[in-house]
Amino acid sequence: MVRKTAHSANVSRAGWMLQRLAEEGLRHTEQRAIVVQAIVDKRGAFTAEGLVDELQPRGVARATVYRTVEVLERVGLLARIHLDNRHGYTVCEEGHHHHLLCERCGVVIPVDASDVEVAIRRLADALRFQVDTHLLEFAGLCEACQARNGRTGSAP
Ligand SMILES: [Zn+2]
Ligand SMILES: [Zn+2]
Ligand SMILES: [Zn+2]
Repeated sequence: MVRKTAHSANVSRAGWMLQRLAEEGLRHTEQRAIVVQAIVDKRGAFTAEGLVDELQPRGVARATVYRTVEVLERVGLLARIHLDNRHGYTVCEEGHHHHLLCERCGVVIPVDASDVEVAIRRLADALRFQVDTHLLEFAGLCEACQARNGRTGSAP
């Protein structure tokens, strides 16, 4: 049987994040669990500062939020969003991929851009340049927001 790493429910994703954090030496505390659950409940991009504002009233320390986010990013379960003053994070599957960001509703859609990467490599080869890393993000409107955006007759 093939073992899948996809996480069907947010509950199991939170459990997986807590496990990875423990492997990185972050103790499992009630505060940590609150931070992780808040993160997996986000459907789009979020900032660490926003999380602090949300969770401080629930007794979660700023340092706990920042440390958790930092380690989740390091192990690849969060990715940084760079475009458009968003400078936030998004929950991520492991493995190399890129993101489509909806500027209207904030949803973040993961995409495999391997065709684009082949083109980049070909371009770099022609210039005898060795590419070690790249940054590729796309912003615009998701399908649902395009439908809301002036298209008449869309289903309610
Ligand atoms: Zn991702
Ligand atoms: Zn890439
Ligand atoms: Zn949208």
